Amino acid sequence: MKILYRSTNRGVPETSFREAIFKGQPEDYGLYMPSSIPVLSRDEIDLFRQKSYPQIALNIIRRFIGDEIALSELERMVAEAYNFDIPIQRVNGLYILWLTKGPTASFKDFAARMLARMMEYFAKEENRKITVLVATSGDTGGAVANAFYNLENVNVVVLFPYREVTERQRRQMTTLEKNISAIAVQGKFDDCQAIVKRAFNDRELKHLSLTSANSINFGRLLPQIVYYFYAYSRIDAENVFFSVPSGNFGNLMGGVFAKNMGLPVKRFVAAVNDNNEFPVFLKTGEYKPVIPSRECSSNAMNVGHPSNLARIIDIYGGWLTDERDKKTGEAVKKGVLNISPDMEQLRRDFVSFSITEDEVDEVIKRFYERYSILIEPHGAVGIKAAEKSGEEGPIVAFETADPAKFPEKIKKLLSIDPPLPASLQGLDSKKENFEIIENDYERFKEYLLLK
Ligand SMILES: *Cc1c(COP(=O)(O)O)cnc(C)c1O
Repeated sequence: MKILYRSTNRGVPETSFREAIFKGQPEDYGLYMPSSIPVLSRDEIDLFRQKSYPQIALNIIRRFIGDEIALSELERMVAEAYNFDIPIQRVNGLYILWLTKGPTASFKDFAARMLARMMEYFAKEENRKITVLVATSGDTGGAVANAFYNLENVNVVVLFPYREVTERQRRQMTTLEKNISAIAVQGKFDDCQAIVKRAFNDRELKHLSLTSANSINFGRLLPQIVYYFYAYSRIDAENVFFSVPSGNFGNLMGGVFAKNMGLPVKRFVAAVNDNNEFPVFLKTGEYKPVIPSRECSSNAMNVGHPSNLARIIDIYGGWLTDERDKKTGEAVKKGVLNISPDMEQLRRDFVSFSITEDEVDEVIKRFYERYSILIEPHGAVGIKAAEKSGEEGPIVAFETADPAKFPEKIKKLLSIDPPLPASLQGLDSKKENFEIIENDYERFKEYLLLK
């Protein structure tokens, strides 16, 4: 059975997986969704208990892409992409799944490493060169740059706000070279994003085959279904709960697909920081994005209008979209609920908590003092929400970044320097290479055309 991809806005024809990941976003500004979701039997799911992570990944991912990628190639990709540890640690009734052992010490490695290989495969098959453009506020840029490094037929251009990323984050993007170019924009993250959006719509850049690697791309969600199955396969229980530290809700969306594929998930705990639009929505049924978003130490979750929320609402029978200017396509009103989802079902499947900075600090201290476990702010939001949920039964909380990425916070709370994981060692002494440009689209375009 071949799965095609439709838009949540239903304004474009269904398309292949390849098209969906190259386009990233359909022309009607919706989000790609599989037209049907494959379901696994309980026996198939139970067999995962004897399988490795790459084997589970192969089994899940192939169901969504049919014969668009040869099975032997897909097998190679999952083996290359998931060549690191994925520990699961039990602390009383809580299971911490460490999605932090990849090459950039962020859970974004899981998605980026697989998307990179799938894009390379398609680009090579068509014998074309593509350019991946990413705007980043920090973590995504490093994960994407690292994932695509040294691949054939794919160039990557990362734009980041010059003064808003940490030195370590910058170095993860600027020390690779070869097919990876890094550009520091003298502006904010939103400016970088605006430049990238304009470039995608610029006819004079068509010949560069620009494509995106942010979490609106279905190819970034697909690999994130896998670790839900993996976690379940390593826990001896009938049902599980998942607590997911959430920003753009891409991580959580992976779980929603897993549940719809038959994974026995009792409920999700959607853990957010001060950006509390989702818990408020669950309570009231009215959606009000938080604009501008609120600054918290879990900075990858400072999102007030999560891009993947439209997908969750779609699965529950609703329709969330942005109101757009007909001429320019610019979103004039963000987050309009045209059709309400089944709120009762949503409330059965999700609880959501907004976690304060004080609560984050308390969890980091308590886990270190009581269990000698170092947690960073994103993971702490997930753990605290898991505790607040009071759910009875095994609950898996994801740790999504290595504490060494937040040395200031750890130092302040615990008076220690978090140990550097092997993947981040040596970074501080590597040679950097990047261009600094003014916050001006024409300057960026010139750069792209000359490259
Ligand atoms: C991106 C990110 C998140 C949020 O994930 P979403 O898929 O955007 O919800 C959480 N933690 C870390 C460390 C991240 O980099």
